[in-house]
Amino acid sequence: MPAPLKTQAIVLRSIRYGEADRILHLYTPHHGRVAAIAKGARRARSRFGARLEPFFHVRLVLHEGRSDLHTVTSADTVTPHPSLREQAATLDAAARACDAVARLFETSEPHPEVFRLLANQLALLSSDPEQASAANGLAFRLKLLLAAGIVPQLGSCAACGEIEPLSGFSASAGGVVCGSCESAAFPIGEDCYRFLVGALGSPLAEAPGASEVALRQAERAIGETAEHHAHVRLRPLLA
Ligand SMILES: [Zn+2]
Repeated sequence: MPAPLKTQAIVLRSIRYGEADRILHLYTPHHGRVAAIAKGARRARSRFGARLEPFFHVRLVLHEGRSDLHTVTSADTVTPHPSLREQAATLDAAARACDAVARLFETSEPHPEVFRLLANQLALLSSDPEQASAANGLAFRLKLLLAAGIVPQLGSCAACGEIEPLSGFSASAGGVVCGSCESAAFPIGEDCYRFLVGALGSPLAEAPGASEVALRQAERAIGETAEHHAHVRLRPLLA
């Protein structure tokens, strides 16, 4: 029998299964995304209590089963983040953050920085509900693209290397492009460009604001990058 796996994890999704079980999608620092079953987790007197709900940061003992599905044998809470569930905006932002991680990092490849980024994002939303904004959500996604190795090139035209004027974005070229290389691009304004650069260069809590037009352009740039380079479609952030 393989040794049990002791790991921290953040619960990305928790799905009711059978009579009383839960199937969990977990994100771990050193084993990437892990799927596990928590047997009896929905019984009133389950030893897991309410610890296996989305957004919980937990410490788990997992046993490897015959399939990809691990079995949870023990769970301790590191941080429950109860305040995330108190407001629709933070609940939604936290759910989108977990969903983006699940889509962009769906294998067991370790990305400890993604684990820390997600833990930071949940802690930030939990401590300061005002952070549940489109700008914060986009800054988080940009940092995920960086961790995935597909961050857009912003310093010069991704197609020809020209420094300016950078007036378009092309996911297939790999970032911002100049006026001469705009054929496969969509236009972005200076405000959007400043947002992309600022959001990548600052901590999540200090992500810059931007106009709605600029944020929509940024969302399109991020979405098309994820689609083109990771074949992942992210859930829309701006309605
Ligand atoms: Zn160019």
